[in-house]
Amino acid sequence: MNLLLMGLPGAGKGTQAERITQKYDIPHISTGDMFRSAIKEGTRLGKKAKEYMDSGNLVPDEVTIAIVHERLRKDDCKKGFLLDGFPRTVAQAEALEQILVETGRTINFVLNIEVSLEELIARLTGRRICRNCTSTYHVIFNPTNVEGVCNKCGGELYQRDDDNEETVRTRLEVNVNQQQPLLGFYKEKGYLRNIEGSRPIDLVFNEIEDILPIHR
Ligand SMILES: [Zn+2]
Repeated sequence: MNLLLMGLPGAGKGTQAERITQKYDIPHISTGDMFRSAIKEGTRLGKKAKEYMDSGNLVPDEVTIAIVHERLRKDDCKKGFLLDGFPRTVAQAEALEQILVETGRTINFVLNIEVSLEELIARLTGRRICRNCTSTYHVIFNPTNVEGVCNKCGGELYQRDDDNEETVRTRLEVNVNQQQPLLGFYKEKGYLRNIEGSRPIDLVFNEIEDILPIHR
C-alpha cells in the first residue's frame, strides 16, 4: 500500500504515522530521515544534498527527487510506504507520479489530517518551559498542578518566543498556502481522503483504518 500523509504542523501526523506503519508493516519515510540516511551512507546524492545544506541553501528538486527515487527502490518498500513531508510542491508530486509509473506502482491514498487553524494554534502555543529545570509542559495536554508553576521544582514557567500566537499563525499560514495546490492536485487524481483530526487519537486512527483496505 502506497500512502502519503499530509497535514499542518500540530495536526498529529507523527502519532498517526507510527500507528499506520505498525499496523500495515510499511516504512515511514520522512524527508528529514531520508536526507540524514543518504548523507550518513555517503551516497553520491547524499553528498550532493549535504553540499547544499552545508552552504545554507535549499536542496534543489532534482536532488530531492533522486533521493526519494533511491529510497523507494529499497527492499523495505516492496510492500509499500508512507511518505511524509514529500512532495511539497506540484512539480515534486508530478515527479513522484513518474517515479511510481516507472516501477509499475501508484499512490493508493493521500491521507490529509484536517484540524482547524484555531485548534492548531491552541495546540502549538500551549507549550510551557520551566525557567529553573527546563521541564516542558503543555497547558492542554500536560498541564502543571498549579498554573504557571513547575511540578518538579516549583520554578516559574515561560513560553518560548517561537511558540507565541503570531509566529505560530504565520507559520501555519505559510503551510496552508503551500499545501493548497498539492491538495488540489491529489483531489483531481482521486487519491485524496480528508480525515477529521480534531478528535482523540484513537478515533482519528479508526477513520484511517476504515479508509485503508485490509492488507496483510
Ligand atoms: Zn522546574
